Amino acid sequence: MTKATSPQAFWLAGRAARGEHTLEVTSPWDGRTVGVVSVPTAEQTEEAVAAAARVAPEFAASPAHVRAGALDHARERLAARAEELAELISAENGKPMKWATVEVARCLSVFRWAADEARRFNGGTAQRLDADAGGTGRLALTRRVPYGPVLGIAPFNFPLNLCAHKVAPALAAGAPILLKPAPATPLSALLLGEVLAETELPAGAFSVLPVPNDAMPALVQDERLPIISFTGSVPVGWSIRDSVPRKRVTLELGGNGAAVVLGDYGSDADLDWAAGRIATFANYQAGQSCIAVQRVIADAAVHDRLVERLVAAVEALVTGDPSDPATDVGPLVSEDAARRVESWVEEAVAGGARVLTGGTRDGASYAPTVLANVPADARIACDEVFGPVVSVTSVPDEAAAFAAANDSTFGLQAGVFTHDLQAAFRAHRALEVGGVVVGDVPSYRADQMPYGGVKQSGVGREGVRFAMEDYTYERVMVLTGL
Ligand code: NAD
Repeated sequence: MTKATSPQAFWLAGRAARGEHTLEVTSPWDGRTVGVVSVPTAEQTEEAVAAAARVAPEFAASPAHVRAGALDHARERLAARAEELAELISAENGKPMKWATVEVARCLSVFRWAADEARRFNGGTAQRLDADAGGTGRLALTRRVPYGPVLGIAPFNFPLNLCAHKVAPALAAGAPILLKPAPATPLSALLLGEVLAETELPAGAFSVLPVPNDAMPALVQDERLPIISFTGSVPVGWSIRDSVPRKRVTLELGGNGAAVVLGDYGSDADLDWAAGRIATFANYQAGQSCIAVQRVIADAAVHDRLVERLVAAVEALVTGDPSDPATDVGPLVSEDAARRVESWVEEAVAGGARVLTGGTRDGASYAPTVLANVPADARIACDEVFGPVVSVTSVPDEAAAFAAANDSTFGLQAGVFTHDLQAAFRAHRALEVGGVVVGDVPSYRADQMPYGGVKQSGVGREGVRFAMEDYTYERVMVLTGL
């Protein structure tokens, strides 16, 4: 990709627009400029909010088949540009092509689910109210109504699919959306905007605005945007929610995902599978996933054999240039991010941790790393690493394994390797997380299922229909004299 000669437009109420300033987007792999993006002025941002507020009643009342059709149309256009999208994601984020391709496929699936849900999403059917004397002669029915325009704020680590998770359910529910992509990765979101502009959506139904962070508090406070759907870091997320207590705010924040390997999971085939999955999903996207494996908690009966395999599987990962289809692990989003990971590992080692493999940095790239004996109070144990580092711990039994998994301020997802159905149900009951994956790592998200965390990991749920429920409310109608 070459340096753009004129800055790329953003999407203001469905049309291309340019502001006065620009944002340069660089590749974390080699520092080359991969795009120059125009940034909206305060007046342009105001214009987008006003347009969203203006179109909101008309859009909410638009027929479901029209919104579903626009979503189908968008998916077809995205599918036609799938390769271009994957290349953009890889260039701006440093994500290896093999994972960027998966992200595009998931985005298509989100749009498909959203079109389907737009067709089914409905209020309740009429019911008689005369079970109570006061309801004699009355009927009630409900209709789902959007609260109003949605402000969607997205992080850098899934620059397309996490935008899709905000945009597609909003449009399916009939709510206009203003999408704010992360400053490091606006390019794939802008291409999503371009595709939406080619559909039959009304002007004002969507804007994609790479607004600078210092202009965000005013947008967050704007009363014309009653819904905020935020995916990103813990401090920014909770500070947004605290600043607007009367708004509906969904927070999808960080995690430090645990993979629990129980004592029954002990055959060579079991441990090969578990080690391979943990190695892959501790390091995919250089560990920059909120549900990456950060902590491995293994029953002492299987611990040593698992760790031996895990180290071998991590050492077999191909690191390097994200544009190479063979690459498993690319750079982090920036050299600063890799330096932070390096300092956390050094802190753990100073406290007694052992590096079983990895532990080195080269620019923005950090080698896939396995640590043992990590002190419980080290940041690498209790905070979110967001880098390619996993720690292993041995526990005496299942109860200790679940207690260790719960010993976290986060609660997003957990993975439990077991063949024991009863143990799987005990895990589902005991683990304080939004989702338990049995027989695999925590890093699996089904885009149509409820997704989100407890504790510091957030509040509310995404997943297409669940986001649509979040963006809308039931309005009751009572009919009298019947
Ligand atoms: P971040 O919090 O730095 O930024 C997220 C978004 O918020 C960006 O668009 C940013 O520009 C914007 N922002 C920054 N300051 C703001 C402010 N004051 N007001 C409003 N918006 C503001 O997060 P990041 O570094 O881009 O993403 C990484 C984080 O996201 C990790 O913690 C990760 O776990 C989390 N994440 C969570 C999920 C999930 O679904 N739970 C998924 C992916 C990532």
